[in-house]
Order: sequence, then structure tokens, then C-alpha cells
Amino acid sequence: MRTVLNNAAIATVDAEGTEYRDGHVVIEDERIVAVGSGAATGDVEIDARGCLITPGLVNTHHHLYQWATRGLAADSTLFQWLVELYPIWGRLDARITHAAASAGLARLALTGCTTVADHHYVFPREGGDQVAALVEAAGRIGVRAHIVRGSMDRGVSDGGLPPDNLVETTEAALLGTEQAIDAYHDASENARIRIAAGPCSPFSVTEKLMTGAAELARRKGVRLQTHLAETLDEEQQCLAEFGCTPAEYADKVGWLGADVWMAHSVHLAPAAVRRFGATGTGAAHCPTSNGRLGTGIAPVRDLLDAGAPVGLGVDGAASNESGGLGEELHQALLQARQRGGPTALTVREALHMGTMGGARCLGREGELGSLEPGKLADLAVWDLGGLLYAGIEDPVAALVLGATPPLKLVMVGGETIVAEGELRTADESVVAGELASAARRLR
Ligand SMILES: [Zn+2]
Repeated sequence: MRTVLNNAAIATVDAEGTEYRDGHVVIEDERIVAVGSGAATGDVEIDARGCLITPGLVNTHHHLYQWATRGLAADSTLFQWLVELYPIWGRLDARITHAAASAGLARLALTGCTTVADHHYVFPREGGDQVAALVEAAGRIGVRAHIVRGSMDRGVSDGGLPPDNLVETTEAALLGTEQAIDAYHDASENARIRIAAGPCSPFSVTEKLMTGAAELARRKGVRLQTHLAETLDEEQQCLAEFGCTPAEYADKVGWLGADVWMAHSVHLAPAAVRRFGATGTGAAHCPTSNGRLGTGIAPVRDLLDAGAPVGLGVDGAASNESGGLGEELHQALLQARQRGGPTALTVREALHMGTMGGARCLGREGELGSLEPGKLADLAVWDLGGLLYAGIEDPVAALVLGATPPLKLVMVGGETIVAEGELRTADESVVAGELASAARRLR
């Protein structure tokens, strides 16, 4: 089966930044077989006139369960916000996680996202199989998922931030992570599900769990993610407790490397930025969440110049109520320019972060992140023909500088998950209804 998208503007995001004003993309089974200018022929020919085709967006950081706890602690700092939300999250069960993840993933698909890294770190004792619920929701909506099996083993009585009933023992956290890897991690290059190891953050995790998770991940060949250098509160706590910054702490416990991508990475000294670049440590930049919690503006320009992979993340919907990835392209551009001036980031660099940069963070630059022959057919077809963008000169500028355009089509491995602005893999109103009752039950 040969499917052709014709007559569209195309931003391939390949190494040369190749673009076509009027071109085609040809898909056979799950892969792209040709990209070029002019029209091509196939078994199915889709007229994408007035559209921009880009690689599917890659979300490098999320907490899908939080879709059920939006709108709380609206004016709080991160630590205040966590302390208000932890007791609610303590009542999470697999059914609520499934409903929240389905809704969050549907929203992501409807904003051009085809691959999602979800960091799940709440495992209440009576909560059922949280990882299975996430895997099932990803299959339902049809996106690729990198499930970061998170963990916390340091409650209030051990000097941590979360309540004691929300943390696991170190042994249980490592065992649960290993079980998730054994049950679900797919190392093949067209994988729909991968697992990563993810102790939550320095203020909720013991050093033993940090080093144990790194050892486990490297033994199993999976990647590592934690929250790092998100707030100044975190930095002060780290300095007081360990006598070093969060980035220095990460270095000390073996957590800088090409198999690691860090959520946030806002408060990094120049030496830490250089270490990220030298070690290939990735950063999941979450501009809307950082703005919502007023944590600061990440040094994205410096990280890019140092050669570190930088991807974009929505972060959990409890600190980014919109939960869409398209607008992170826009927010990333605005924040980089507010920090570094008008030349700090180009619109095409913002698109690169949301696609290839994210693929690099997840170790999938060989099969995702750009539109090139041989790559998996994960793509977004943005409709620029309506009132929002009709007649606009630069289609990439439309996508990055303006509101997220509607989507004519979103494909994952050549399978359609969104068409003409509507989810095709599940009924949106059913997903929304399940979410509403899950959120009510949780609160
Ligand atoms: Zn997060």
C-alpha cells in the first residue's frame, strides 16, 4: 500500500533543513519511502494543498495522570503546589490513570504529537497496575509511548517532600522498575512502547535509589530521566544537604550521560551546561510549565551551543492545563528570546527541538524526528488554509509564531490517528466523559 500526500509545504527537519514549498511525501506500510518537490503517484493520493507537513512532534516530558488534577494550586510555587497535590495523588488508581492518560494522549495527538514520554512516579499501595494502564491508554490512542517508571523513596520522615504513604521502599521501587522493563520494553526500532527508569527528583529520592536506578537501566539497556534544576528552592536544598548544585549531584551519582535526559534543566551554571554538552545529556525543556510555576527560563541557547540534545515537553497537566504540544514550540521561542534577545532562537530551531531534538533525547534519532526515506511515517499535516493562516508567507513561522493550527492528518507508523481535526482512534466525547468522572472520583 503506497499512500501519497501531495501539494503541501514540507519541513523535513533533516540535517540540511530541507524544505519544499510544494511537495510530496510517499509512505509504504509504516515507513516514509520518498520526500520531494512536485506530485507523486500512489494507491491512495491525498491532496494536502494549503497544508504544512512536519515530522510528528515528540513530547519528552509529561505526567499523564495529572490530567485528572488540573486547576489546583493555581498560584503556588512548585513546592507548595506539590504539597497540596500529593495527598490527592495518593488516592490514584489504575482506572483513574487510564482515563487521565487516554484524555491527555488524545489532546496531544490533536496537537500534532506522535511520541510521548510519560514520567509516572505515583504508585499508591492499593492503586493497581499503573504501568499497564498507561500502556493500554497509549495503544488505545495510537501514539508511541516512552513510559518512565518513576519512583520516590524519601518521604517527610526521611527529610523528603512527599508524605510517607506516597513513597515506596528503595527495593520496591527498583523491583517495580525492573518488572516494567521486563514486561513492556521493546528495543526494536519501530517500537510503540519503551520503558525508562526515573527516580523522581533529588528532593524525593535517596542517593541509593539514584545509583541503583542508573545501574539497573544500564544493565537493561534502557534510558534514564529525572527532574533536575527546576527551581531555586531545589538548588538551595541540594546545596544545604549535599554541598553541591543539583547538576553536580547528578554528575556525582552517575547521572550525566548520553542515555539520560533531564526534565527542566532551568538552573544550570555555565559549567553544568558544558557538562551536559560534553556528556550528551539531554534536556526536556518545558516552557509553559516553567512559566506557570514561575521557576525561571532554561538556558536553551547555551545548551544547544554546547551540543546537548534539547527536546520540548508539556510536563504534567497540573502545571500546564492546556496539555498541548504545538504551543510549546511557540512558548519555547518566546522564552528563549526573553532570556537571550531576538536572535536567541529561530523559528526553525524551535521546530527542530519539538521534533528531532526530542527524538535525540529519547535515543530515536535514527528512526523518528525527521521526514526522510527509511524513517517511520510519524507525521503531522497542519491545515494552514483557514482563517488563521490563509495567505501567510512562511508556513513554519505560522506553526511556531502563532496559535497551533488545526490538523488535517496525524499519522503514527503510517496509521491515521487524527483526520480532519478529529481523533480517529477513540471517541473524544467518551474519553472526556471518562475523564470527568475519574477527576470527580479522585477529588
Ligand atoms: Zn515533571
